[in-house]
Amino acid sequence: MYPRQFEYVAAGSIEEAVGVLAANPGAKVMSGGMSLIPMMKLRLLSPETVVDIGRVSGLDAIEDKGDYISVGALVRHGAVATSAVIGEHATALGQAASWTGDPQVRNRGTLCGALAHADLAADTPAAALALGMTMVAQGPNGTREIAASDFFVDSLMSALSPDEILVEARIPKRGGGSAYDKLGRRGGHSDYAVAGVASWVAMSDGVVTDCAIGITGVGTKPTLAVGAMEALRGQGPDGIAAAADRALEGITVLEDLYGSEAYKAHLAKVYTRRSLEQAVAAAS
Ligand SMILES: Cc1cc2nc3c(=O)[nH]c(=O)nc-3n(C[C@H](O)[C@H](O)[C@H](O)COP(=O)(O)OP(=O)(O)OC[C@H]3O[C@@H](n4cnc5c(N)ncnc54)[C@H](O)[C@@H]3O)c2cc1C
Repeated sequence: MYPRQFEYVAAGSIEEAVGVLAANPGAKVMSGGMSLIPMMKLRLLSPETVVDIGRVSGLDAIEDKGDYISVGALVRHGAVATSAVIGEHATALGQAASWTGDPQVRNRGTLCGALAHADLAADTPAAALALGMTMVAQGPNGTREIAASDFFVDSLMSALSPDEILVEARIPKRGGGSAYDKLGRRGGHSDYAVAGVASWVAMSDGVVTDCAIGITGVGTKPTLAVGAMEALRGQGPDGIAAAADRALEGITVLEDLYGSEAYKAHLAKVYTRRSLEQAVAAAS
């Protein structure tokens, strides 16, 4: 199917793109177009104006800023997956990016686009939650920072205002170890997550001093597993199973085409345990 007719604007700067968004209610920003274009073709979205930021310069770098890693708005999943600094300090995000879609999607789709899209079964939002990432949004009144824990509001809804653009994602360098594991819709790690879990843990003398766990695919949005996090703090590796059992506290599991409520609840606990085991091993 073809999309409805729309006006296409190739922005030369973020300021210009923000101006177009502010002046045209309902306008949508396009980064890689990997989700926006299919949704327009299916007529799930019919914006009158599309602002393409793909030609804006200076947004495609991954930079080590000392206490955090900066990922620009136009950094593709493939670059995240192969980045040495992300591999070293944010393993869970590198794994989530490497298991996002196929090579075409990873070569066009951007990390910031995926975060802004906020699909309930997307991989990288789980890593953003576990790693305590910060989103930098630019709008008509300048920039503001939004914690990952406040960013994913509902299915396909982020905390960005309609006239804001996600210009950067920041990953704090908190030490410890992290990992992402998932069951994809086509089995293994392929495609969106039926259930996906990212974990970050900090350890001292064999005990977890702090941790964060992000779950995707099972609820209405990517969510922190606060029950499991509470259960694991102060425990050693033998506390992982009990923590995984609390993975779904506060999360309403949704049945969908890919599994019943009971099946997805079971998977969430299994993948919480698996990702925690890997994160604890990395942190030890
Ligand atoms: C075949 C296929 C398979 C896929 N498999 C997976 C998978 O296994 N796992 C997974 O997690 N994802 C998967 N995806 C989704 C893919 O990761 C996203 O489509 C992609 O990363 C979105 O980034 P983009 O740059 O293409 O965003 P776009 O498609 O350009 O935009 C997506 C949405 O986000 C908004 N947006 C984009 N960039 C910004 C920004 N900087 N600031 C504010 N709003 C913005 C747009 O307005 C739009 O609403 C798949 C997609 C396809 C087509």
